[in-house]
Amino acid sequence: MSTNNFSQLSLSKPIVENLASLGYEQMTPIQALSVPLILDGKDLIAKAKTGSGKTAAFGLGIVQQLRVKQWYVQSLVLCPTRELADQVSKSIRQLARTTHNVKVLTLCGGMPIGPQIGSLKHGAHIIVGTPGRINDLLRKGHLAIDRATQLVLDEADRMLDMGFQDDLDKIVSYMPAKRQTLLFSATYPDSIKALAQRVCLKPQFVEAQDVLSPSTIKEQFVELAHSSERDEAVLKLLHLYRPEQAIVFCNTKRETTQVANYLKQAGWVSLALHGDLEQAARDVTLVRFANGSATVMVATDVAARGIDVADLELVINYQLSREAEVHTHRIGRTGRAGKDGVAISLFTEREYPKLALRVGDEAIENHRLELPDDSVLATDPKRPSMHTLQIDGGKKVKLRPGDILGALTAQGGVQGSDVGKIDRFDFSTFVAIKRDAVKVAMNKLQSDKIKGRQYRSRVVRG
Ligand code: AMP
Repeated sequence: MSTNNFSQLSLSKPIVENLASLGYEQMTPIQALSVPLILDGKDLIAKAKTGSGKTAAFGLGIVQQLRVKQWYVQSLVLCPTRELADQVSKSIRQLARTTHNVKVLTLCGGMPIGPQIGSLKHGAHIIVGTPGRINDLLRKGHLAIDRATQLVLDEADRMLDMGFQDDLDKIVSYMPAKRQTLLFSATYPDSIKALAQRVCLKPQFVEAQDVLSPSTIKEQFVELAHSSERDEAVLKLLHLYRPEQAIVFCNTKRETTQVANYLKQAGWVSLALHGDLEQAARDVTLVRFANGSATVMVATDVAARGIDVADLELVINYQLSREAEVHTHRIGRTGRAGKDGVAISLFTEREYPKLALRVGDEAIENHRLELPDDSVLATDPKRPSMHTLQIDGGKKVKLRPGDILGALTAQGGVQGSDVGKIDRFDFSTFVAIKRDAVKVAMNKLQSDKIKGRQYRSRVVRG
């Protein structure tokens, strides 16, 4: 397709005219790739971010294929938060405004369920909602999707992050096997691949090329006069780069604890991760880093395998790794997802030959970095954007992410967009909350019940 006009698609005339009236002149890259496949009835995995025009991509597929005279639920769109669901409903209504009598219903947690049950009695063509509430309504028999022919998972990665996997699987089990499934996700980790395998049938994969150049890793090398200068060097590098998140690699367990403590004393929220941590402590450490409530993770190589963070800005080699290939693994932790990353290795004169063997003399000489002087330490440490709340209830009491999200975002609570990852264990659940919303979230948890029960909760620190 040389140009990306909507008129090239098999869309009805009123829909195309409506697009022009909305000011949509050309398809965005993700629309050009996905809409033809969607209109052709294919299952689809689309890697696309917010702002790419993804809502209109699946919205057009829904509106074009809708049979308005058939009065049952034909399409179900699942979103991670109420805000997104509201936005998606609004977009679909806009796209459908030249088709008469299209009924779009939004069904989300954190809102009273009674009126939703009432609205469902009047019927709807398109349902947009959050997985927890949709599953509830299905389980209680208020919602029927057994004739629905389209399922859209919007921001699927975020839904998995928020712990909605079980709800998603249950919801899918209420749908006919013969359907079209469209999965949209900003990232494409293994968990999304596995989900796609379960819910899609021979899906096509589309990804709009980012305008960004491919990611690059910039390696830099800092020579220290003495090995004892490592701690201060790491601290200065953190103040200099001010990363959202960084990993510092050490070779021993003792070093990880010592470096993490040193950084903590200097005001950085840093955690140590090594093989001797008990399972529970290890879980909390991984959860806090992955959900963005800690800035620095100081880890040994083996322990770092469990860290699942997509785009680290900075990796520091406190010590050079013992093996050459481990060095490559370490620096590969940064510069992912189209972003540039920096990997810095500290070395002493004695270690020069080892480093030169790995990266070459030329690289070291061309990418030497001088540490800034002490004035850099006068800046405040970078604070993490999130905090972790721990709720004393988890899988064993069937406390589900949707229940927690609903309680937190109910009237007087926080916005759905203030809530990050939700990680559930047998006896507790960890919820990432934006720093500014922690107070409101804690008040809400301490004053309200979740599913009729009061749970103890606290902000995880230390
Ligand atoms: P989304 O990625 O779905 O959140 O969409 C981002 C924004 O782009 C929304 O405000 C849409 O209204 C707008 N948009 C979607 N498709 C187009 C298009 N083809 N031309 C212009 N704007 C668009």
